[in-house]
Amino acid sequence: MEKRLIKKDALNGIISKLSGEMPVYAPVKDEDNVLFKVLEEGMEPLVAYSNTRNAPKNFFFPQTETMMRYMRTEREIKLSGEDGEAREAILFGVRPCDARSFILLDKVFDQEKYKDPYYIDKREKTIIVSLACVQPPYSTCFCTSVGGHPMSEEGADVLLTDMGDNYLAEFITPKGEKLLERMGDLPAADGSADEKKKELSESAEKEIKSHIPGKEIKPWLDDNFEHPFWDTIHQSCLACGTCTYLCPTCHCFDISDEVKGSDGKRIRTWDSCMYWLFTQETSGHNPRPSQKQRWRQRLMHKFKYFVDNFDEIACVGCGRCVRYCPVNIDIRKIVTDISKL
Ligand code: SF4
Ligand code: SF4
Repeated sequence: MEKRLIKKDALNGIISKLSGEMPVYAPVKDEDNVLFKVLEEGMEPLVAYSNTRNAPKNFFFPQTETMMRYMRTEREIKLSGEDGEAREAILFGVRPCDARSFILLDKVFDQEKYKDPYYIDKREKTIIVSLACVQPPYSTCFCTSVGGHPMSEEGADVLLTDMGDNYLAEFITPKGEKLLERMGDLPAADGSADEKKKELSESAEKEIKSHIPGKEIKPWLDDNFEHPFWDTIHQSCLACGTCTYLCPTCHCFDISDEVKGSDGKRIRTWDSCMYWLFTQETSGHNPRPSQKQRWRQRLMHKFKYFVDNFDEIACVGCGRCVRYCPVNIDIRKIVTDISKL
C-alpha cells in the first residue's frame, strides 16, 4: 500500500486541483449543520468536524432516482431513455463509520445473484477519501461495538489521518492509487508515521465512550420474536422515519410510476420500515399494523436478519438515530436492555 504525507497547508490546493477535473463532494458548514456538498470554486472542505447530519448513502442510493423513462401509445409502451450514466467523482472527508456502511450496502445492492446497476454504476465511479476520527467523537458514537473503529480503512479508497503538521495518506485500493497519480508529487511516509498512527489509533479508540453489547443479543433475538419486551420500546415513537432516513445502512425503498399524458417515468424513492404504508398490501391487509411490530422489525433487521444473511450487524454505530430522534428513543439502550433479559 502506498503511504504518503500531505502538508496540512497543501491539502486545499490539492483538492481544488482535483475539483477542476471531477466533482468533489465534501463536508461543508450549512447553518447549524455539516452537509456533503459539491465544492464550487473557492470553497474549502471542513475537516474538523465530528460527522455530517446526513449519511452519505445518497451518493449511491439517492433519495429519489429515475430508473427509466417511457412513452405510451395506444398499442405499446416504448422506453425513451434513462438519466445517463454516473460521472467519476470524489467523495471526500467520509468518516470511517460511514465508509464502512458502503461495504454493508454493497452486500445488499451488489450480490452475486442480485445486482443493482443504478447503485453499482455510481459506487464504481466514486473514489472514497475517508478522514480518520482523531478529533473527539460525539458522545453517541459507538462504532467499536459493531465491528468498526474510529481509524478503520474499511470502505475507503484513501484514508487520511491528521498527524499534526501533515496528513498521512494511505492509498488502499487501485482506485485510490489512481487518485495518487493525480495528486502530484507527495513525499513517502516512513516508519515513524506508522508508529504515530498506531498511537493515535489507540487513543481514538479510548475516546469512544459509548459501548453496546451489539453482537451478544443475536441468540435472544433468534428465540424471542414474541416477547413482552417488544411492547416497551415503541410507545413514544412518532413514526417520523428520521432514524431510518439518516441511517447510513437503512436501504428500504419504494418504486412508483409517474405518468403525465403519454410520458412516464419510473422512480425509486427511499421508504421506511417505520411507516404503516410501507407494508400495506393491495388487499388492505397489513402484516405490520402497529408501531410495536415496526420497531421490532427495525431492530431485528439490524441485529438478526442482516447477521443471518450477511454475517454482519447492519449498524455502524454512527449514533445519528440517537442524536436526531425527536423523542429520544435510543437504540443503544434498547440493545443494552435486551442483553439483560
Ligand atoms: S426517529 Fe424516533 S420517533 Fe421517529 S420513527 Fe425513529 S424512533 Fe420513531
Ligand atoms: S442504527 Fe443508528 S447508530 Fe446504527 S448505523 Fe443506523 S443511524 Fe447509525
